[in-house]
Amino acid sequence: MNEQPAGGYNFKLLRVDLNKGEISTEPLEEPFCRRYIGGTGFIIYYLLKEVRPEIDPLSPENKLIFAAGPLTGIPLGGASRHAVGAKSPLTGGIAKSEAGEWWGAQLKRSGFDALIVEGKAETPVYLWIHDGEVEIKQAGHLWGRMTKETQETIRSEVGDEKARIALIGPAAENLVSYACIMHGTHDAAGRGGLGAVMGSKNLKAVAVRGNNPPPVVDREGVRVVSTWLKENMDLVKGYRELGTGGAMELFEQAGNLPSHNFREGRFPAVGSISPTRIRETIRVGMEACFACPVKCKKVVEVHEPYIVDRAYGGPEYETIGAFGSCCGVDDMNAVARANALCNAYSLDTISTGVTIAFAMECFEKGLLSSEDTGGIELSFGNAGAMLEVIELIVRREGIGELLAQGSARAAERIGRGAQKLAMQVKGLEIPMHEPRLSKGLGLGYMVNPHGADHMDNMMDILMSGYGTKLAMSLDDALPLGLEPTTLEDGGPRKIAYFKAHHSKRIVCDCLLLCHFLPYSFAHIVQLTEAVTGWETTVTEQIRVAERVLTLCRLFNIKAGFTAEHDKLPERFFRPTPDGALKDKALNHEEMEAARRYYYDLMGWDEKGRPKAEKLEELGIEEFA
Ligand code: SF4
Repeated sequence: MNEQPAGGYNFKLLRVDLNKGEISTEPLEEPFCRRYIGGTGFIIYYLLKEVRPEIDPLSPENKLIFAAGPLTGIPLGGASRHAVGAKSPLTGGIAKSEAGEWWGAQLKRSGFDALIVEGKAETPVYLWIHDGEVEIKQAGHLWGRMTKETQETIRSEVGDEKARIALIGPAAENLVSYACIMHGTHDAAGRGGLGAVMGSKNLKAVAVRGNNPPPVVDREGVRVVSTWLKENMDLVKGYRELGTGGAMELFEQAGNLPSHNFREGRFPAVGSISPTRIRETIRVGMEACFACPVKCKKVVEVHEPYIVDRAYGGPEYETIGAFGSCCGVDDMNAVARANALCNAYSLDTISTGVTIAFAMECFEKGLLSSEDTGGIELSFGNAGAMLEVIELIVRREGIGELLAQGSARAAERIGRGAQKLAMQVKGLEIPMHEPRLSKGLGLGYMVNPHGADHMDNMMDILMSGYGTKLAMSLDDALPLGLEPTTLEDGGPRKIAYFKAHHSKRIVCDCLLLCHFLPYSFAHIVQLTEAVTGWETTVTEQIRVAERVLTLCRLFNIKAGFTAEHDKLPERFFRPTPDGALKDKALNHEEMEAARRYYYDLMGWDEKGRPKAEKLEELGIEEFA
């Protein structure tokens, strides 16, 4: 290690105790930073150290942690992100989610690498962090306000139009289990109910602004990667032109687009909600996160029949799938409106859409009646009903009270076989990619500590280029010793692929890099070295990912999770009635074998419990 302190860090953690109204800072030592890197690594370390896993996630004992990484805020495409984490009110295990926008870069510039919020304020407050100064300000007048109005008011109160704001809307204040934390008005730390944790603390917002980024040791090294990206912008052409979901029609043909609560294999109306159609009709611009030339964020505007304020951005692929094909809705304006409502109220669009799709299927099967829905005809394809139910969820009124708990708990309450219709793993609703098509992805849904997540995962179908063989860049595959595999494969080669890809994604969630950028592991190592000044390797970075995932596993075990929770809904073990998945279904034995092989690769026993020697190898035996 160099004599000089590493670049990329402020080496400072900010702690705000809302019970006592106390603000303090703590040093982050360089060896600690190197062991956990940042982001998700910092979050799981502090959660295990400071939060009893068995607590009520909405009690003041839970802690809400915002953590940037050494790459957050450097002048490079994709280096805009930060992570947020806590014990999840949706799953009961660890929740962690990343957001782009400019908030993380401003946190770094304000002099901190991470923020831990603990306790609960007596009355609503917000934090104002600016160039090393921190204030707790009253927010009673903002409680109940939408995100746009809240952001405008806070910027005016702190006198800084460039302040970046992490904030919640009424859904989080009302403790909807899958409420999210918005960053500005259209970027979310979406998954796992982190917004509800923030609401439970009476914390309306965290505004940040700073002018002093931490040093970068080797600017030329960063510039080399930045130049590579500029010269290879073709690799992100799809994102630039259409945003996420540019391949939606192809997804539908291949069987990757979930339809009608993952029941049908086809959605022939895909062309009416696809990003191509959005570009032709309601799209009015594209925006970018901090320093990113990709500019993949759609901006849309609708005046009738629904109003969609452009401030709330446009729907990402996941949102189009969740409110569109998954709810059987082919009305693009309604999907855009649903997205805007979620961003205004701070709801996770995936969990909201999939929970409503679940309710639609329950309604179709008579498990929910018109009496239960308050007279709403909650059928697949009924866009008006979908929008009405979002409002009820936010207010927790009528059917909204049931659905505000997420599909798993709602299914338990409905009973009579409704559990089979809840498309979730560990309580987290499944995103818009089909595991019947991608077994590596399916394994990821099973074993991810925070539930069914597509970001910390591999996308077999994308890596196959819609063919049969999977490709990983040579830069990635060679040092990892990966052998060629196929789309159909669910055996050891595929599991090794999954573990490698998953590790890379976890490393990106610690350094903080956007998953949409086509950086290889070699680039990631190069960037880490250039920013921090450390000499590192792919092996060291994979070791960090293993450490982080093993700590997440320990947190979940202590919270009551077992190997039994690493399983997919039964629906995926049957083919769809139509479409490309007509002959495709997962096989129990194969997925069980995949799970066990993955545990083995991770150094966990057959029940998924990390082995003592693995904890020792990773230097985390203190957490056993
Ligand atoms: S690729 Fe898109 S989401 Fe990722 S940093 Fe760039 S603009 Fe943001």
